[in-house]
Amino acid sequence: MTNRKIVSKLLAIAMLLSALASAAQQKKPNIVILATGGTIAGAAATGTQAGYTSGAVTIDAMIAAVPGIKDLANIQGEQISNVGSQDMSFNIMLTLAKRINGLLAKPNVDGIVVTHGTDTMEETAFFLNLAVKSDKPVVLVGSMRPSTAVSADGPLNLYEAIAVAADPNATGRGVLVVMNDWIEGAHSLTKTSTTAVQTFMSPLRGLVGVSAYGKNDYYNNPEWKHTTASEFDVTNVAKFPRVDIIFACADMSPDLIDAAVANGAAGIVIAGVGNGNMNKASLEAAERAAKKGVVIVRSSRVPTGSVGRNVEVNDDEMGFVASDELNPQKARILLMLALLKPRTTTQIQELFLTY
Ligand code: ASP
Repeated sequence: MTNRKIVSKLLAIAMLLSALASAAQQKKPNIVILATGGTIAGAAATGTQAGYTSGAVTIDAMIAAVPGIKDLANIQGEQISNVGSQDMSFNIMLTLAKRINGLLAKPNVDGIVVTHGTDTMEETAFFLNLAVKSDKPVVLVGSMRPSTAVSADGPLNLYEAIAVAADPNATGRGVLVVMNDWIEGAHSLTKTSTTAVQTFMSPLRGLVGVSAYGKNDYYNNPEWKHTTASEFDVTNVAKFPRVDIIFACADMSPDLIDAAVANGAAGIVIAGVGNGNMNKASLEAAERAAKKGVVIVRSSRVPTGSVGRNVEVNDDEMGFVASDELNPQKARILLMLALLKPRTTTQIQELFLTY
């Protein structure tokens, strides 16, 4: 064979290989990671110290730290914010929701992963569950240990989150959280430990599924209304009405309720004792607030169980709303969305039985 022929054969082989590689690339799902900060992006000076700076590592560095992640999907990263989630704001949540809706409207985006601190992850997950207008998977992920820790949990969590976001079987299940092999629903999950890696639990509804090194198995579909069935549209929302949470306890001071009203709260969620209760003086303060048009939602400081309407407190007479299964922090999110337009307490109660 002449040299020319050899060169042209080699060129043909190279072109074939590159065509095959790009076909394989096109077959993989396209996932966008939106990074917001948190411990998953945290760094400490040593591998064993408890203190660290959250939100110190960029999304590109996080992706680079996970072996094999690029075999799961074509991944693109965007930095939305870089905060510890104790500083998560409704501004950032709105930016996230709008960006996710924009991205998922594109036919070439198959799913979204949001990296987030764990402290307020359940609030952002629940907010997105009501504000995202797509069936495509949206998965929040974080970690309990910073990226520099011995046995950091972030890399495998991120790997499994991508595997769920890229999985057609995750479609239509609402916003999910993937941490430590567990796939949980935005409505039901809550943070239960300040430090343990297995911090998220869904006490009432259980797991949506599990992911074992990216091999996913689903048990449940979240039952509450979400995403494409949600009536809430944040496209033109720039700001939310003020809603405060007040924690009930033995011999609670009722003037906290009066102070919230005086400071302009449009709604108050009471993290009540037991079945969403509070002492007589606080019930009276809450009733006064309700008569002024402030919406009072009774939730509970107890980690599991639901708050029933008219069970221990006469909600009909006092003009209150019962939170049903929503814990105080998620009840606040739903109430903020509900208060975006005028609604009666009966209509707001209906929302708490639906979402
Ligand atoms: N404070 C951190 C945060 O929520 C904790 C974590 O991510 O686990 O951002």
